[in-house]
Amino acid sequence: MTINTGTTTGVTAAAATADRLREVLGDRVVLAGDAAYDAARVPWNLAIDQRPFAVVHPESAEDVVDVVRAARALGLRVAPQSTGHGAGALADTDLSDAILVSLSKLRGVTVHPEAQSARVLGGSEWNDVVQAAAPWGLTALHGSSGDVGVVGYALSGGLSFYARAHGLAVNSVRAVQIVTADGRIVRASVHDDPELFWAVRGGSGAFGVVVSLEIDLLPIADVFAGMLLWPVDRAPEVVAAWSSWTTTAPESASTSLRVMHFPPMPDLPPFLSDRSVVVIDGAILETDAAATALLEPLRALTPEIDTFARIPAVQLVQVHMDPPEPTPGLTAGAMLSGFAGPAVDAYVAAATTTPGLFLAELRHVGGAAARRPDGAGAIGSVQGDFLLAGIAMVPAPELAESALAAAHGMVAAMADWHAPALALTFIDGGVDRTLGFGAAQDRLRELKAVYDPANMFAGGQPVG
Ligand SMILES: Cc1cc2nc3c(=O)[nH]c(=O)nc-3n(C[C@H](O)[C@H](O)[C@H](O)COP(=O)(O)OP(=O)(O)OC[C@H]3O[C@@H](n4cnc5c(N)ncnc54)[C@H](O)[C@@H]3O)c2cc1C
Repeated sequence: MTINTGTTTGVTAAAATADRLREVLGDRVVLAGDAAYDAARVPWNLAIDQRPFAVVHPESAEDVVDVVRAARALGLRVAPQSTGHGAGALADTDLSDAILVSLSKLRGVTVHPEAQSARVLGGSEWNDVVQAAAPWGLTALHGSSGDVGVVGYALSGGLSFYARAHGLAVNSVRAVQIVTADGRIVRASVHDDPELFWAVRGGSGAFGVVVSLEIDLLPIADVFAGMLLWPVDRAPEVVAAWSSWTTTAPESASTSLRVMHFPPMPDLPPFLSDRSVVVIDGAILETDAAATALLEPLRALTPEIDTFARIPAVQLVQVHMDPPEPTPGLTAGAMLSGFAGPAVDAYVAAATTTPGLFLAELRHVGGAAARRPDGAGAIGSVQGDFLLAGIAMVPAPELAESALAAAHGMVAAMADWHAPALALTFIDGGVDRTLGFGAAQDRLRELKAVYDPANMFAGGQPVG
């Protein structure tokens, strides 16, 4: 149902639906026109202007059940969101008939140290998990940024700095508790509702609102990690050296390389403000001696900054220098089947000269991330040895079009090396995501029709 607010009938119908929603959910719902609406609808990615019919911030699984049942009764859709880091993936979705279920108040982690696992509430961020796990000498397959949501990241794949050794984060999910389209809380695991468990590990928010997850933790208390930084005019030799280094780097090393362009900003450290730089960072799961030996060819390029050292695992979320606050950015991505020779030259040219680009990132993937474990769900691995992502900032809404063109332009410049695959966590809207689901696409569509026949859930990864 699309709520047509452009006609008298539409306005009347929408107003009646809004009144009924308020009756059922009381002050738990924020409606368009309420004073709190604008603040309630803003995602972490400030470039995305999402305008749902209503917003709810559930504080319990029962609140989520109430919302889903109300939506179903009123013919509204439901768009689950934890933080809005992935709001760009919903940018093409009309939310005017959807309740945005923002889970930011449903956070909490219980660690089971003896089982090396954790139960994580549906709106939790990775910081919540790594901080709860650290006292037990444990950590998780979190991404580069601590305030990314666990559910959106993990159920879309999840590429960490442990990925080449330990695979995608989605394979660490042991069970989900999810509110399905019929308004029930369902536990899905290999034993309970295995079809739904298969589908949600990739299909994510297209199958319901996840109110908690059970994930495996890793016995890693500290890690050899850090970053090397050079001025951008060193990019040709640094990028070529990293490309060659990755051909022999063991699976214990998961690294990224970025060319980054920073505007003058007082909040930035002087080594970044008003500068363009090339940065290699990541984690190496080896002894200090082995990791030091491995880094030697990169350190021989005399970086201006070198922070690689053994650090507590809890600090790994700071290594990549992701923005600590909500930020407006647009992303494009691709997987590359290789990164050598002419690909290096093409990358250096595109990364250093594309107007409006904030960063061009390469992550060395492959290894365990490319191997699908037994019992995996719809997504269990990602093909292609390198992930390429372009990000452009959107300081004002009228610059969105040129920002998107910059991100996509950089990625298109590497088209000769694109692999027939996508890492779904690095894809915003406007992209055919079937490449990300690969052979799982048809079965996902069939299961979507079984579990959500009315297409109530508007997920960031549309499977229909
Ligand atoms: C600064 C930054 C750093 C990043 N680093 C990495 C990285 O290192 N590795 C990586 O793989 N990705 C990374 N990403 C991408 C990130 O994993 C995706 O944007 C992911 O979707 C974010 O999840 P979220 O829950 O925070 O986002 P949200 O926008 O809240 O959610 C995205 C989608 O996930 C689903 N979803 C979220 N919560 C729920 C729920 N409780 N129930 C049902 N569905 C839900 C919905 O479909 C939603 O549309 C990064 C993104 C940013 C902005």
